[in-house]
Amino acid sequence: MLNGNVLSKVAICSSMVLSAVLALSVFAADAAKPKKEGYTDTPMQPDGKWHVHDPDRPKPRIITSGTASTQEKAGTAPSDAIVLFDGRDLSGWQSKTKGQVVPAKWKVENGYMVAEPKTGSISTKESFGDMQLHVEWSAPTEIKGSGQGRGNSGVIIMGKYEIQVLDSCDNVTYADGQAGAMYGQYPPLVNACRKPGQWQSYDIIFEAPRFEGDKLVRPAYITVIHNGVVIHNHQEFLGAMAWRKLAKYTPHDAELPLTLQYHGNPIRYRNIWVRKIGTYDQAAAGKKAE
Ligand code: MG
Repeated sequence: MLNGNVLSKVAICSSMVLSAVLALSVFAADAAKPKKEGYTDTPMQPDGKWHVHDPDRPKPRIITSGTASTQEKAGTAPSDAIVLFDGRDLSGWQSKTKGQVVPAKWKVENGYMVAEPKTGSISTKESFGDMQLHVEWSAPTEIKGSGQGRGNSGVIIMGKYEIQVLDSCDNVTYADGQAGAMYGQYPPLVNACRKPGQWQSYDIIFEAPRFEGDKLVRPAYITVIHNGVVIHNHQEFLGAMAWRKLAKYTPHDAELPLTLQYHGNPIRYRNIWVRKIGTYDQAAAGKKAE
């Protein structure tokens, strides 16, 4: 006959076995799951959503970066970019003639597009607001004209906010109209222009203006890197591009097409892409945050 002492010993043993089994199964489950690195005993960030080093904060989605261009060869866009021109065709672009939308008529050859005489400016079919934009351009090798008449074009964001394209190598014009200028508003911080015929790059980060009804609640801001050099650092636009007038804002949509200006000169463009900037803590589409 079992006495109470033996019974309690059996009970203790069984519970020990059960605990061991439980511990093992928890261990097995832990081993199957990748360990989350981070801390939850840390202060909350000021937004009240995440701890400092929070292990549950969504990991940024993974993209593949592009390759850099050389004078001989255009680079490639990052994997999440919208490619606006890869040297092959102008299917993403259009023009306007007498208020009518028509196909873009710039010539495409040898991996670039070139503004043809009397073709007009070209604009993207797609619209963009806040963006990262990469554009490469080259002023005509054959130097013709002077000042604003030499190698003039423009990257006109939202069809309103122009970063000037001009052959500003050994070509004097007013400061707020030279290459890289926020046209009519701010000159570039430095003149980083390359010689005519050479490829040059603009890497742009643009924040679109915000309107509430007719009221401007936040102006547009731009950062521009010209051939690897900062020429505008989060600078405020005073309004839409204007010639011989003060710039001013007129309310417009949150997203609008990008325009390349036709100014009568055979400027070449290649390797144009744009990325919507996005917001923090967005997990990859269709994937649960880890
Ligand atoms: Mg221009």
